[in-house]
This record gives sequence, structure tokens and C-alpha cells, in this order.
Amino acid sequence: MRVLKFGGTSVGIPANFEIAVRRVREASAHDPVVVVSALAGVTNLLADYCREPAERERLSSALIERHLTFSLDAGVSAESLRASLEDWRAEHALRLRDPHPLTGEPRDRVLSHGERLSATIFAAGLRNDGVEARAVEAGAAGLVTDDRFGAAHPLPEAAALLRRGLGPRPPVPVVTGFLGRTTDGRITTLGRGGSDFSAAVIGAALDADEIQIWTDTSGMMSADPRIVPEARPVAHLSFTEASELATFGARVLHPKTLLPAIERDIPVRVLNTSNPRDPGSLITATTTPAAESWRVKSIASKKGLTAVTIVSTRMLLAHGFLARVFEVFGRHHVVVDLVTTSEVSISVTIEDDSRLEAALAELEGIGRVEVRRDLAVVAVVGEGAPQRIGLAGHVFTLLGGVGVAVEMISQGASRVNLSFVVREDDAEKCVRLLHRGLGLDVEPASTTAGAARA
Ligand code: ADP
Ligand code: ASP
Ligand code: MG
Repeated sequence: MRVLKFGGTSVGIPANFEIAVRRVREASAHDPVVVVSALAGVTNLLADYCREPAERERLSSALIERHLTFSLDAGVSAESLRASLEDWRAEHALRLRDPHPLTGEPRDRVLSHGERLSATIFAAGLRNDGVEARAVEAGAAGLVTDDRFGAAHPLPEAAALLRRGLGPRPPVPVVTGFLGRTTDGRITTLGRGGSDFSAAVIGAALDADEIQIWTDTSGMMSADPRIVPEARPVAHLSFTEASELATFGARVLHPKTLLPAIERDIPVRVLNTSNPRDPGSLITATTTPAAESWRVKSIASKKGLTAVTIVSTRMLLAHGFLARVFEVFGRHHVVVDLVTTSEVSISVTIEDDSRLEAALAELEGIGRVEVRRDLAVVAVVGEGAPQRIGLAGHVFTLLGGVGVAVEMISQGASRVNLSFVVREDDAEKCVRLLHRGLGLDVEPASTTAGAARA
């Protein structure tokens, strides 16, 4: 079987919707299972709905209008949407009574309507095209998760439940991305951008021969095309390269997407719904073909980071110092990205600093603590690239040439990723500069030509 996941722009623009429906019809010999995101912009709208009690009436009308108009444009009858819209109206009636911002469980319930409406429309679109299909809410199909609302993680038993819940086929299941359910039946979400992860979890559970991520770019590109318009698709990446890029800000894949694919060794393909003939990117366990192995493949960046430095002349070399620091972060559920150490200090970067305050109070008992905000990490990724003699020198010479201050550098044990931290305002400049400076804007001609450039 094969999983085809369509993101918000793929299901939220009528011309792309038609192409997406056709892709599923053409995949019928591969026993397709479809995963869909909410229509483009809808999850943001629902997040605003949760945040702004005074705006709920207006936003609810906008939500209903958006789906009715879209269905009309996509040739799907309003009747097909009736039950899903009724579910929404019931939710809205309940939430209107609550004058507070919604968080946790009620927020996840509200957000879930984006994917539920979109799955309903997509399944109806498939049936219009002669494909037997049914919309399924992921939790009802067996995607059980823990109860960390807003960032839920699938439970091990989800695999067996999904195998049962998604058969027999056809009809083709059109599963809501982004959603799960606790074992006692409460809807959860997997984190923003989580539909990619849903697709991979389902692909692994059903032992897919391929997981296809259909989006608005022709694969994983050499940089975010919104930052670097001349970015080029990367034909082939290893699981590790793609994971590093996703972790360090390449939004095209949710950072957890590759985990289930790695476990079951399932190839992941990233494809462009608007240009379905483009080859896209293939992501597999095997390393890069030799001709490209010299090469930095892509540069990612992620803003909104906070760096915490703990300085302790007294403690650093003492037994258990690092363990104590990480025990504090762990206990407060603070996720650490990058780590660098010197003889008297340790610095870490943190993406989500919502739980940081409590951890800081404890860290102050270990050493002097410095916090810097509004930072970004830039990651230069390519299997083997960081080990190339001269790459680090080249990167930091380029940055020095334009006066960018580098706050932290991490290469660590990774053979794949050279990353560094800069001020947030400098991040895009760095990505553009390195993309050109490392030759990513030109086609890899041969190993020799590439080596000369690097
Ligand atoms: P979808 O709705 O299909 O899930 P997303 O908006 O979540 O799409 O992800 C696609 C976007 O990711 C692209 O439009 C692009 O701006 C961004 N992006 C960031 N880094 C990369 C990259 N290396 N390759 C491709 N896209 C990237
Ligand atoms: N609709 C959700 C979001 O916008 C999930 C996804 O698109 O992957 O975050
Ligand atoms: Mg996405």
C-alpha cells in the first residue's frame, strides 16, 4: 500500500484539489490511503478562534463560508458537508459560552474541525471522480496518542489498531492528518504541521511501500524558497539529512516525520501537487550517490530560539555537573536543541521557552545563568559535508565578511550537520549568503567541480 498526504495548499486551492484527486485515482493499483491537512489557512483561523473570545462569531462564519465556497469551486455538493458543518456549529455553540481563550483539550477539539471538514470534502471529491472513498477521523481509525494536548505522541498500540481501523480497502480511507485520540476517546493534535507525521505513522503501521508528501514545492529544496527564490530541489536525501533539515526549520516536513519511516525503512517522497511531473525528492536510508557526496545539500534556519548559558568555574569539571543540568531541563520538560560546552560553561538552545522560568530558578543553584533571546539557528546539511576540510573555514569566512556575529557553533558528532546560532535578524541573510557562497544555486556538475567549489 501507499500513503499519499496532501498539505493545506494541495487541498485548499481548487486547481490543486483536482490534481490531488487525480493522483489518488492514478494510485489505485497501489492500494492508497490518503491523509489530508486542513484547507490552507484554516488551522490559523481556528487558532485565532481559540485565542480571541470576542472574535468567535465572526471567525465561525468565516470558517463556514470558506468551506462552502471551496466545496462549490471544487464541485462538491453542500449536502456532502452538512453533517461536518453541523458538528462545527454544535462545537461553536458550546465555545461561545466560554469567555476565555481556549487551551489544551478544548483547543485541540476546536482545531480538529479543520482536518475533519477537509477530509469530508476530499472524500466527496474522490467519489465524484469515481473513486470509492470514505472520510475517517484518525482517532476513530486507531491513531491513539498520549494526552499531551497540542503535542500528542502516538502510543505503540496505535499500529495494530490502525491496521484494523483502516481496512478493508477500498473504499479508500481519507484520514484526517494532525489528529489523534487518547485511549479514553478525547481528540488530540500532534503539533503544528503534524499531518506529515500522521502520514508516516500510518505508513509504518500499514507497512507502506512509499510515503508521499504532496506539497507546494518540488521536493525538499536547497533552502526555503521563500528565503532563497533560486533554491533547487534536492533529488535524494538520507533519512538523517532530511531529519536534520526538518528539525532545524525546513517546514516542508514535520520534524517527527522520519521517525516511523526510519523504523520500518520506508522511502519518503516529497512531491509538488502543482507540478506532479517534477521528480521531487526521495528520502531513503541509504546515503547519497557518490557524485553528490561532497556537497552541502541544503541550508535550514529556525528563528525564535533562546540560548541559556550556565557558567560555573567551581562545578563544571566536577563529577555529575552536566547530568545535573540536563536533569533540571528534563524534569521541567524543556527540550534542548543544540549544546556546546567550554571548560567553564555550557550553552544550550531552546525552541519552546514556555517552561523555562521554573528551570532557570533551579539552574541558578548550579552556576551563573545567562539567557539570550531572539536567536536563530542555521544548519548547513549534507552527509559527510561537515568533515570536508575547509567547509567550516569557508562558512565562517563568508559570515565574517558581512559582519555577522556567530553566538554558538555546533558540529558535534554529526557527520551531517554544521550548525551555528546567530541573531534572529541575521538568519535570512546568512541563508542567502551561504546558499550562493557554497554553490547551492548551481546544478551539481561532477564531484571534481563540486570539490573545487567547496
Ligand atoms: P503543506 O501545507 O503542504 O504541509 P507547508 O507550508 O507545511 O506545506 O510546507 C511547505 C513550505 O515549507 C514551503 O512552501 C516552504 O516555504 C517551506 N520550506 C522550508 N524549508 C524548505 C525546504 N528546504 N524545502 C522545501 N520547502 C521548504
Ligand atoms: N493543519 C495543521 C497545521 O496547519 C497540520 C498540518 O497542516 O500539517 O498545523
Ligand atoms: Mg506542513
